[in-house]
Amino acid sequence: MGDKFVGTPKKASVHVNQNEDLIFEKSSPGKKAYRLSELDVPAVDAAALLGDAVRTDLGVMPELSEIEIVRHFTRLSTWNYAIDLGMFPLGSCTMKYNGRVNELVARLEGLADAHPYQPESLSQGVLEIMQVLSDSLLDITGMDSITLQPAAGAHGEFTGILLVRAYHESKGNPRKKILIPDSAHGTNPATAAVVGYQVQNLKSNAEGMVDLEELEKLVDEDTAALMLTNPSTIGVFESEIHKIADILHAKGALLYMDGANMNALVGKVRPGDFGVDVMHLNLHKTFSTPHGGGGPGSGPVACKKILEPFLPTPVLATKSNGTLTLDYNRPQSVGRVRAWYGNFGMFIRALAYILANGPDGLRQTTEDAVLNANYLRAKLEDVFDLPFKTASMHEVVFSDKLQAKNGVKTGDMGKRLLDYGFHAYTVSFPLIVAGAMMIEPTESESREELDLLIDALRQIAREAEENPELVKTAPHTTRLRRLDETTAARKPVLRWKAPVASTQLTPDTAAKEW
Ligand SMILES: *Cc1c(COP(=O)(O)O)cnc(C)c1O
Repeated sequence: MGDKFVGTPKKASVHVNQNEDLIFEKSSPGKKAYRLSELDVPAVDAAALLGDAVRTDLGVMPELSEIEIVRHFTRLSTWNYAIDLGMFPLGSCTMKYNGRVNELVARLEGLADAHPYQPESLSQGVLEIMQVLSDSLLDITGMDSITLQPAAGAHGEFTGILLVRAYHESKGNPRKKILIPDSAHGTNPATAAVVGYQVQNLKSNAEGMVDLEELEKLVDEDTAALMLTNPSTIGVFESEIHKIADILHAKGALLYMDGANMNALVGKVRPGDFGVDVMHLNLHKTFSTPHGGGGPGSGPVACKKILEPFLPTPVLATKSNGTLTLDYNRPQSVGRVRAWYGNFGMFIRALAYILANGPDGLRQTTEDAVLNANYLRAKLEDVFDLPFKTASMHEVVFSDKLQAKNGVKTGDMGKRLLDYGFHAYTVSFPLIVAGAMMIEPTESESREELDLLIDALRQIAREAEENPELVKTAPHTTRLRRLDETTAARKPVLRWKAPVASTQLTPDTAAKEW
């Protein structure tokens, strides 16, 4: 044992270990969370109003007192790990902290209550928010036109590739395939396939970048586009991206950039300047809007002029009298991709974030995000294998190669990290790195918090050497221990059902019912 592992970790946490029955199991007949005085007006005849639509049998509903309900949900809420409790070093996800002020602005009455049916004359303020956000994002990306409609990153990819398809079809030259490097995000090949393209895989070179010679061989008159994640999923910037663009353009193909990782680029470089034709942004990553838990996302798509006619309807336009309007008369449009105009609440939050930071603040954010990732890299590269030595941007990918010798895998170490009070890093992704450990600290974290994570990860590396069983059986301090993830994924029990007679419902019998 060398002295590379010194000290004991400063942060270790024990989760609150209560047991909590389901709310249905706590129920007892007749309990109520309220008391109302007798009705002193005639009761509404629901059946007369709604006819057959009236539901009289409410099934089994839980019956509890108010404090029992409050305690039940408060206790459940303590089981969640949240950015408000600690760091989420989940690579590829940009789990940054979203300033409270963004929420405050999004909840202003006039904005939160704006209705999509409101006449245009009363909607100039909300349209202006969309306009200023669009202009800001165009400024940041160096592109010409934008749609804010898509509801997520993958939805943005779908929209962007629809534009590519419409463009080639408009030239009477529908093409068949899309090239995708092996370092791309997994949604890219899925998107290309959903839009009806054949996916052709492009191998990365030893630096983890697109192999230009290989690209030149593969691009032909049947190539619609290359979908490039930049920085790639290994956190590497494609430094020859302008050459990649030239190779594609020479054959009439387009360059799509997956811009979900713009956290590493905002304020430093603009994709429009290095040959990108179309890209999406993840407002719910880079632009500090809430993220995760299936909440609303936002994946605007920005493009060059050649793709502008195909953008989804409606698009923002300015009338001759200077007021803003929504233009639906767009004969070449790919159509709508989302009801109304997109997730408007996200636009407000993103714009609040952009305006609060300003150009200098956004640039600083990018620099801090990249600095934080490189700080982690420098402090950990002596204990974890670093498969690609190329400079890291906003995230760093290690592998479990050194620990795997003792039978300890990336997933084991991710679970052990829970014992130290952190969310796990991204486990086993990207796929081009066997046993990947992908870490993205974001700019939100202080040096102190980064040091705590470094401490914990170094301790785990030490444990993997001295006591591999401890890591392989982690987590030990969480409310639930290691779960059977395969069964959980294949036979999920998602709904409570009243036990039938004497047969108690177990996860097994519940799974069968599904
Ligand atoms: C997160 C991410 C996506 C997908 O975004 P969603 O909003 O989850 O659909 C696509 N590409 C990259 C590189 C990403 O990091």
